[in-house]
Amino acid sequence: MAKQGMNSAVSSGKLRAVLDFLATCHGEARRETLPAPDALAGWLAHHELLSAEASLGEDDYRNALELRAGLQHLVAVRCGSELSPEVLGRLNDALGDATYRIRFLDAETAGRLPCGDGWPLARTRLVEAVLESMNANEWRRLKVCPGCREFFLDDSRGGNAAWCPGKRCLSRKTSERYRRRRGPKRRGPLG
Ligand SMILES: [Zn+2]
Repeated sequence: MAKQGMNSAVSSGKLRAVLDFLATCHGEARRETLPAPDALAGWLAHHELLSAEASLGEDDYRNALELRAGLQHLVAVRCGSELSPEVLGRLNDALGDATYRIRFLDAETAGRLPCGDGWPLARTRLVEAVLESMNANEWRRLKVCPGCREFFLDDSRGGNAAWCPGKRCLSRKTSERYRRRRGPKRRGPLG
């Protein structure tokens, strides 16, 4: 949902689609909600990234999981994990080639429109949403919670929330903050 002061990538819902994509495999248990190519095709059609008639093969499916794992890694790195050059390399390999049409929209602006079909088109649309959110400085709002390992969109005013807004995590966050505040006193001035 758009909030005041939010910028285009979030308010247009594109970043939310990326969040939904990352969250198709989620939580500490890494629950998989896209177990097969047809589940992926249905998910993409539901998010208007692919036509409902399109079908996907095993290679498309494997490529999508690689893309998802790579993007999940980028979010985890933003939330404090160490960057793995190997995962980054696999992510870049998974991107393949993207094709575009460039069109002038009016006398002042031009647009770059992903084209092609099937999974490569859906992939370009997804990655475009990531690029757009990075350019709009909104990518930083996509986070993985240190408590439940769920992906979430931090739509707080300052965008500084580390924990998801789930009830359990909010109480863990409060007790951790309390522990941190008490910690140094217990250990004394020399720590
Ligand atoms: Zn959480």
